[in-house]
Amino acid sequence: DLSVQDLKRWLHLSNQKIQENKAFLSELDQPIGDGDHGHNMARGFQEVAEKIESKGYEETGALMKDAAMTLISKVGGAAGPLYGTAFLKAADEWKGETSLTDDAFVRGLEAAVEGLRTRGKADRGGKTLLDVWLPVLDYGKENKIEPDDLKQVAIEGMQRTNGMQAKKGRAAYFREQSTAHIDPGAYSSYLLFEAWSESMN
Ligand code: ADP
Ligand code: MG
Ligand code: MG
Repeated sequence: DLSVQDLKRWLHLSNQKIQENKAFLSELDQPIGDGDHGHNMARGFQEVAEKIESKGYEETGALMKDAAMTLISKVGGAAGPLYGTAFLKAADEWKGETSLTDDAFVRGLEAAVEGLRTRGKADRGGKTLLDVWLPVLDYGKENKIEPDDLKQVAIEGMQRTNGMQAKKGRAAYFREQSTAHIDPGAYSSYLLFEAWSESMN
């Protein structure tokens, strides 16, 4: 189970990984976008880290909701509203829960994925962050969650975006030229799930 404190640790660890990979995430966004994904994510997650540090939280939903609202208001571009929506849907699901069981994690994930789908109109194979979130959701529904496996599923999803032609977002303008690249949003999503796997112990 993840306590409120563990969830806070996850958000800080996510921020740390995003900051460490800021230049790399923007590099991934250069050939198939506008080269700002690392910049967008780094700004947003830094704001999240600062926001949640200044407050105490009694339950996971309220913490997640603050993170969501910060991402929505501080991150420009496609990714901010998408991550914000995903986090907000999970926050609704976790409302009132003082700790998260595996089951709650999967419920939050499922709501987040539905939010991403509705907001972005993308689906499996569209070369977006969904190509990491969907396999992780599938894994969580079918298995007892093990940190190493969770991380592995996220890595594989991220790597499979190299080979997909983008159908949504800026990358779609590059048509077949988008194919031989990793999707930046898939990479940032992998970082968040890697952080989750490290927060589980
Ligand atoms: P922008 O494209 O506005 O510059 P970012 O560079 O921050 O925004 O984010 C780009 C990422 O957003 C992509 O790599 C992709 O994963 C994700 N993305 C873009 N459009 C969509 C969409 N319609 N549905 C899901 N994800 C999307
Ligand atoms: Mg971009
Ligand atoms: Mg942009």
